[in-house]
Amino acid sequence: MSEFDYDLITIGAGSGGVAASRRAALHGARVAICEGSRVGGTCVIRGCVPKKILMYASQFGEALEDAPAYGWQFGEPRFDLATLVAAKNAETDRLEGIYRRMLADGNVTLIEGWARLVDAHTVEVGGRQLTAGRVLIASGGAVSRPPIEGIELALDSDQLLDLAAQPGHLLVLGAGYIAVEFAGIFRGFGSRVTLAFRGERPIRGFDEDLRVRLADGMAARGIDVRPGFEPVRIERRGSGFAAIDGDGNEIVADAILAALGRHPNTAGLGLEALGVRTRAKGGAIEVDRYSRTSVDGIYAVGDVTDRAALTPVAIAEGRAFADTEFGGLDVAVDHALIATAVFSQPQIATIGLSEQDALSAGHDCQVFEAGFRPMKNTISGREERAYMKVVVDRPSDRVLGAHMIGPDAAEIMQTLAIAITMGARKADLDRTLAVHPTTAEEFVLLRTPRD
Ligand code: NDP
Repeated sequence: MSEFDYDLITIGAGSGGVAASRRAALHGARVAICEGSRVGGTCVIRGCVPKKILMYASQFGEALEDAPAYGWQFGEPRFDLATLVAAKNAETDRLEGIYRRMLADGNVTLIEGWARLVDAHTVEVGGRQLTAGRVLIASGGAVSRPPIEGIELALDSDQLLDLAAQPGHLLVLGAGYIAVEFAGIFRGFGSRVTLAFRGERPIRGFDEDLRVRLADGMAARGIDVRPGFEPVRIERRGSGFAAIDGDGNEIVADAILAALGRHPNTAGLGLEALGVRTRAKGGAIEVDRYSRTSVDGIYAVGDVTDRAALTPVAIAEGRAFADTEFGGLDVAVDHALIATAVFSQPQIATIGLSEQDALSAGHDCQVFEAGFRPMKNTISGREERAYMKVVVDRPSDRVLGAHMIGPDAAEIMQTLAIAITMGARKADLDRTLAVHPTTAEEFVLLRTPRD
């Protein structure tokens, strides 16, 4: 018999923790997983899944607007946020139930409560001390609230997902993934939306051609896009709120969403006392390519390590950890090529290097691009265009990056990501026959490089 209660104790039952625990149990390990909140974590309970449900809901307005040109007639449409939130909650409850069953069926013991590390092999949860050969920290991330006076008056994305009443005017502060996604969602519901952020353009880090087109596309949908606004204070103003910047400019709205980033959830875990190293900037747990921390026996995966705060990355890291530590394999996740989508409206998806990053990395680049009005918009008269871009390393013909803004960008990019992960060359895209008529076919019809 082992000297420990378990072979593995995982802290956090989100995407990464659940994936790692189930895989470890499959390899025969005795596994317990601790969760102080709801099983499923950020993605299932307060991130990807509920956000996408709201996004679907927000797109019906556009379909209804376009439908008459296609011959449909309806009465006056009305939107009720409370009905949607109830449906969303029912779905997250259902998914949480599935996650709980998956743990039970996978021989993983769920221990409900907030966990704290006592030493490298001991975890305290709900007043009990449990021991394990290995401890995996998968405690995820949490909303950041930068030191802006009155920031507590703003809602965060967790709260926005459960709003009882729709704000007439929503001010969104920030311009990262969460900010632009919620701005599009509430605009789709019919709210007036202002997106105010300190930079010049939204979604820092993405290809500039996407950033420019996203700002324009959001503005064309009626969002008031306000670059160069860095809030220093939030205060009550009548029945609403005002955000004020350093120059005294202010924006007044019925509700404010602060989407100013997320940070690794390490508070209260007892890491410092054990000497688990965290990064000075941001506080993420430092890990090597096998998700090993600076302390033997303690590992970390997912958002708490901030390698890439994305669900599929956390799942891959969790499974790689379990396969390596309990399956006798040698698996490390390659973080070099990660496809990702922003469910903004218009939608964005991307894989690999932006043109700017490719040039900074010293590549001799060729850029191929296409901008066009999707066929669906011709009959409806909607002006919105789609844009696709491929960045190629000229000497090797290797595709370094692919970028898209427009309808179904995320779905299209997932499939293209396979080819690019396999090392596709531009010539491979060129010899691929098109599926016609589609938007995706433009990626195989790009012939003339940009000057
Ligand atoms: P991001 O880091 O993407 O964006 C934060 C935003 O807040 C930026 O616009 C940033 O500006 C701004 N900001 C930060 N601090 C301040 C400040 N003190 N004053 C003014 N502005 C500030 O964070 P999110 O919360 O949007 O998302 C967190 C992570 O979650 C993402 O990085 C992503 O990995 C993940 N996510 C993924 C999604 C998906 O896959 N579709 C959806 C949602 C989240 P600046 O750029 O100037 O620094």
